[in-house]
Amino acid sequence: MTTKDWKKAFKQLKAKPIKMKKYIKHNAPKQRATGVCLKRCSRCGRFGGHISKYGLDVCRCCFREIATQIGFKKYS
Ligand SMILES: [Zn+2]
Repeated sequence: MTTKDWKKAFKQLKAKPIKMKKYIKHNAPKQRATGVCLKRCSRCGRFGGHISKYGLDVCRCCFREIATQIGFKKYS
């Protein structure tokens, strides 16, 4: 199971309501106040390498792709 989508198993469990209930009870992600998992890239959904400076809210990979379009300039 990936962190991306824990609901992927729902498709399979739809026919088994009791097992579905049990699955939800034990596998639903915790509601968190802090931590890495709160910051997701708004473009691709990646958790790591997050840039929130200047209100960008994207990961480092997406930033590299869109930097020139949003007005950043590379000097070196
Ligand atoms: Zn991204």
